[in-house]
Amino acid sequence: MAVIGVDIGGTKALAVRIEDGKVAATERHTLNGSEDLLEAVEKAVASVSDGEPTAVGVGIAGLVDQADRTFVWGPHVAGDRVAVGAELETRFGVPVAVDNDANTALIAELELGVASGYRDVLLVTLGTGIGGAIAVDGEIYRGGGYAGEWGHMRVVADGLLCDCGKRGCWETLASGPALERLAREVLHANPSSSLARSLGDQEVTGYAVVASADHGDETARALVAEVGRAFGQGLADLAAIFDPELIVVGGGLGSVGEGIVGPARRVLADAIHGAAHRIAPTVQVARLGPTAGAVGAALLAAEATNGS
Ligand SMILES: [Zn+2]
Repeated sequence: MAVIGVDIGGTKALAVRIEDGKVAATERHTLNGSEDLLEAVEKAVASVSDGEPTAVGVGIAGLVDQADRTFVWGPHVAGDRVAVGAELETRFGVPVAVDNDANTALIAELELGVASGYRDVLLVTLGTGIGGAIAVDGEIYRGGGYAGEWGHMRVVADGLLCDCGKRGCWETLASGPALERLAREVLHANPSSSLARSLGDQEVTGYAVVASADHGDETARALVAEVGRAFGQGLADLAAIFDPELIVVGGGLGSVGEGIVGPARRVLADAIHGAAHRIAPTVQVARLGPTAGAVGAALLAAEATNGS
């Protein structure tokens, strides 16, 4: 009895096959954001299939109508108003559950990961952008459907242009592309910097900068810490609103760990409202790492199947 979960983000489709409660296969496919959404899911499902699954779950970065199982829109994924659930059910012939990928990641962390045993939890994903999910008393809180899109809180008046079309969003300062932009600024200003030597012929990406930081380049470390601090300031704002027990940091860049999360934690402790009189929420890196969204999608699908 296998259930397949797929996480569609701005740069990847990640699929897992879950058998007997365990991840039996994982495949990651690179996307450029312009692929047909349904075809990307089909390809990802096929890559981990071993016979017909009992159900398929899909987590997608962006606005998802979970009840209607429709991908409504997202700045990092092509297509709008795609009836993902209905279309894929026709193609696969098995039940299909659909949700926002941050919600599915939080479902996974609550059931199998670092949020196990907690009730009031925020999951903040840091990758191509910033996504989020909210658990209140152990249940996913969706608001009218789209709660948790705090990557698009405007934090700088007339700031940098965001992928969403607005300016100054939190994710323009804290994301993989933000780290890439900072690195390009350094390389432009100082083409013979240690960062230029460290990156060599590699394409300048957020992950390449993180790798340079891990290899000891001080400039890369400073840039990673700068993004971490911008991330931490936003976490302080979220803590002012929700006062959660736990903040789980997920997403590709969040998963790199202390280089990002350490500075974020320190800023959170200083910037939280009433800092001298309270302890800031615990901040932990998602245990399931980059697979959380896909694993949670599979869990959601399994749950929907069991419930029907
Ligand atoms: Zn935005």
